[in-house]
Amino acid sequence: MESPILYIVIPCYNEQEVLPITSKLFSNKIEQLTQQGKISDQSRVLFVNDGSKDNTWNVILDLCRENPIFAGISLSRNRGHQNALLAGLMTARKYADVTISIDCDGQDDINAMDKMLEEFSAGCDVVYGVRSKRETDTWFKRTTAEGFYKVMKTLGADVVFNHADYRLLSRRALEGLAQFKEVNLFLRGLVPLVGYRFSSVYYERAERMAGESHYPLKKMLSFAFDGITSLSIKPIRIITTLGFLISVFSILGMLWVIATKLFGITVSGWTSMLCAIFFMGGVQLLCLGVIGEYIGKIYNETKRRPRFIISESSWQEEHTQDYE
Ligand code: UDP
Ligand code: MG
Repeated sequence: MESPILYIVIPCYNEQEVLPITSKLFSNKIEQLTQQGKISDQSRVLFVNDGSKDNTWNVILDLCRENPIFAGISLSRNRGHQNALLAGLMTARKYADVTISIDCDGQDDINAMDKMLEEFSAGCDVVYGVRSKRETDTWFKRTTAEGFYKVMKTLGADVVFNHADYRLLSRRALEGLAQFKEVNLFLRGLVPLVGYRFSSVYYERAERMAGESHYPLKKMLSFAFDGITSLSIKPIRIITTLGFLISVFSILGMLWVIATKLFGITVSGWTSMLCAIFFMGGVQLLCLGVIGEYIGKIYNETKRRPRFIISESSWQEEHTQDYE
């Protein structure tokens, strides 16, 4: 088999500090793999500028001018990591036989790519990069992140434990992914749904080489919640079960109340009444909120807004917005 064209897809948002450092790592990797004959010399590093507010896009354009291994596209505005990644993958799909997505901050070990490509040539369409250790992450980030995967699993979202968005996808897998039209994008949950033969490659996660994380706790929590509600309706099932249990207890409570009334031993009952009102009020609001979250998702899906709009690219090409 001829050596495959590899595109390394890298979303970047406000990364002007880290790009000059890590871009070398990526281009060296491509060069090394090309020399070893593992990939074609048509392989590229594709940066996706996710509407950065700093100088990132110019840094990317400079890199592209210096070395033809680099290519870049720019989104019309900031759409978030998942959408930026999808924009990159859907663009790469037109040129590449295989893509590897990775963050631009150098936290994920690029040497794992060799093993990913081996798995690819062994016939896998999807290869997950899985973090074996997270010693360099703070205790807090590690525990919250690992908690995240566990909660996701129990709430019915099938995600690969300790796998972020460092993964290899064959063109066939990308074609499969392109058929998922959902606007609420959660790639970690979608890729397992695409199917095909898969395997995992383990690596150690390092520290960010420069700049700052874009995922503080608040964003991580909303990411987790989004992930769960995009992938599973288990929370609604839990509400149904809760409603059922509370109904059963209410019936028991009513029997008790009527019995005490009949035997004439009623007391003022202020405490129990207030407790019941408060409790039920809280539970109902919570349940409404969860159901509302799903309705919000439906609202967004029905509008079918584009998931990204590409405004510029480093090479001459008419951008037909054929994200579908
Ligand atoms: N990113 C992006 N758009 C955003 C936020 C982040 O494209 O709105 C990119 C960012 O440039 C990086 C990757 O997503 O390449 C992961 O972000 P980060 O390293 O800040 O997250 P962490 O590794 O701390 O979870
Ligand atoms: Mg990072």
